[in-house]
This record gives sequence, structure tokens and C-alpha cells, in this order.
Amino acid sequence: MDLKKYIRDVPDFPKPGILFRDISPMLADKDAWRAAIKALAELVRPHKPDLLAGIESRGFLVTAPLALELGCGFMMVRKRGKLPGATIQHTYELEYGSDTIEIQDDAVKKGRRVVVLDDVLATGGTLAAAITLLRKAGAEVRGAACIIELTFLEGRKRVDLPFGALVQY
Ligand code: AMP
Repeated sequence: MDLKKYIRDVPDFPKPGILFRDISPMLADKDAWRAAIKALAELVRPHKPDLLAGIESRGFLVTAPLALELGCGFMMVRKRGKLPGATIQHTYELEYGSDTIEIQDDAVKKGRRVVVLDDVLATGGTLAAAITLLRKAGAEVRGAACIIELTFLEGRKRVDLPFGALVQY
């Protein structure tokens, strides 16, 4: 199946000059969404994860069904202030300013094999930060995957792990 047919291009969103790759048509089509999750499962299964980590917020949409498909657990990597209870944080630099992401402090036990997921890999900053945070928590991060990779931004270079994507632009 050509998954690109189910990705909508939205120019100048959320800012002028950004071409937003919208997976909503893929989510809306049961066959395309099933095909996408099955294809991601093929990419991720060789890493034998105990747990999948989804990055807020479209990463959650990808990760929850994939965890069911692979028969493993699912944990959330969220922006600061969204998770209840004690958390572990990581602050990383953006082009202007910085951002902080968090996980719950009991979300991952030491040595657990984790694979990280998101919808889109752009500059790779978010994914690299999530990997750093998970390692801080003691996870053995084995790989990462996304539905879409924006290859011209070379985000893959910032990810020091096996990385896979279903669709490249
Ligand atoms: P980055 O840290 O630059 O790799 O940005 C990754 C995050 O921003 C991901 O969580 C994506 O959901 C989102 N993102 C960045 N660029 C785009 C884009 N062109 N289309 C859709 N989502 C994007």
C-alpha cells in the first residue's frame, strides 16, 4: 500500500514556511492505518522491546496500537506538567529557548528494552531528547521509529540508534 496517499500536506502550519505532514487521513482509513501499524511492527519487532515509549502527542496514536500488536507495554514521554506523581525530566535546547520533557519515575525499570516512537522525525531534537531521558531512567533503548522521516533535515544523524521510518520526504 502507498501510505503517502494517506498523508495530507498542509502548507504554513503551524508557522509560515512549515509544510505540515498530517497523518489524519491515515488514521481515518482503517486499511491504511492497519497497514501502517503492521509495517511499523515489522520494523520494531527485531529489537524485542519490553516496552514502547510514545512521544507526545501524535506519538501516542502510533505507539498504543503498536504495543498491542507487539504484545508489549506502552509508556508516555510528555511535556512538562502533564504527568501525575514523581517524574524524571530532561531539558533540551531548541532553536530559540529550551523545552522540558518528562516520564513518570516508575515508568521504566532498569535494563528494560525500550523502543521510542513518534509520527514524524524532523530535526531529530525531540527524539534525541527522549532517548537521553529514557537512558537517564536506566532504560536500554534499542531503537526508534516513525511513520514519516523528513530526510532533508537530517534528523537521523542526531539519533545514535537504529532508526526506521515507513515514508520518506
Ligand atoms: P523534531 O524535534 O524537529 O524532530 O520535531 C519533531 C516533532 O515535531 C514531532 O513530534 C512531529 O510531530 C513534529 N513535526 C515537526 N515537523 C513536522 C512536520 N513538517 N509535519 C508534521 N509534524 C512535524
